[in-house]
Amino acid sequence: MERRYNFNAGPSALPQEVLDHAQSELLSYQQLGMSIMEFSHRSKEYQKIHDGANELLRELLNIPDDYEVLFLQGGASLQFSMIPMNFLSEGQQGNYVITGSWAQKALKEAEKIGNTFIGSSSQADDFRSIPDLGTIKYSDQDAYVHLTSNNTIHGTQWKHFPKNDQSRFIADMSSDILSRSLPVDQFSLIYAGAQKNLGPAGVTVVILKKDMLKNIPDNLPTMLDYRTHVDKKSLYNTPPSFAIYMLSLVLQWTKNNGGIQAIEKLNAEKTNLLYDTIDGSKGFYNGTADKLSRSSMNVTFRLPGKELEELFLKEAEEEGFVGLKGHRSVGGCRASLYNAVPIESVHALCDFMHTFHHKHNI
Ligand SMILES: *Cc1c(COP(=O)(O)O)cnc(C)c1O
Repeated sequence: MERRYNFNAGPSALPQEVLDHAQSELLSYQQLGMSIMEFSHRSKEYQKIHDGANELLRELLNIPDDYEVLFLQGGASLQFSMIPMNFLSEGQQGNYVITGSWAQKALKEAEKIGNTFIGSSSQADDFRSIPDLGTIKYSDQDAYVHLTSNNTIHGTQWKHFPKNDQSRFIADMSSDILSRSLPVDQFSLIYAGAQKNLGPAGVTVVILKKDMLKNIPDNLPTMLDYRTHVDKKSLYNTPPSFAIYMLSLVLQWTKNNGGIQAIEKLNAEKTNLLYDTIDGSKGFYNGTADKLSRSSMNVTFRLPGKELEELFLKEAEEEGFVGLKGHRSVGGCRASLYNAVPIESVHALCDFMHTFHHKHNI
């Protein structure tokens, strides 16, 4: 069975080695005669995977000791609600930097809980850019400042993160966590649904500074209170054990491949190949994001005219390329180059794009 060139935005490509490994022990985990899915989440076998994933993530991202690492459910989308429920007290405001649709969704949930404020927005330029750090507005009332590190739909990414003493920065890193080195200590909370760079859907990683636990109100539903998951080490109830097992394999794969530095370098090579193809096409392919804000994970581009775009997507599909259609809200094309997308897939895509360009030169 030949594997396809997978450029899906999420769920997305997983490393073939990881899938092979999972397959090899799917029926009998470590010759124990049961699938890991069939073990109790209280068993020592599962506990080892659970703790191992936590430790490996800490190691790979260099997470300081005053941070907790949690494995939750409900996707990044539940974090949109949990963050204001836990941290947005009366008399304060949630400060949101709006750089795309996911940021808008996060803001919408916070509005239901308390006061909000938009510290900056790139909506006026159709989310083509990330704001200059100096232009973001802060206030003494900010309970936190929320940003989206990589805008999966619009193809933009923060290259640097804001830093100051008062602001508690919170970041949705669903689509670029583990893709580059990360100054964890500049954030109070980082969260990411696993299904882009970390593993399969079903588990959400939360990296939380311990001092954030001080002011959580006592009337929250147990499952929506971060303290529950901190106290029980993400084992208050049944965790998504298979997803966490897959996460542990992806983290091991990342380590075996040289860790974040090596992955970041390879990601840059992949991204440059594709942007060079776009920029070298004399406008046939048109990158939609502002050059300085371009994402290394989601490359968004357009072709001249809807008909050519549709033909491009159709022929790409026939050639074995998957997931190149842009998000339904913005149209166009998008290639997602997450960690697990091999550089060979990117070479194949660039070759296909050259061929298509020459065939349909206008
Ligand atoms: C995919 C994505 C989400 C949504 O994640 P779910 O796990 O489906 O809730 C949120 N934010 C960003 C930046 C994303 O890329």
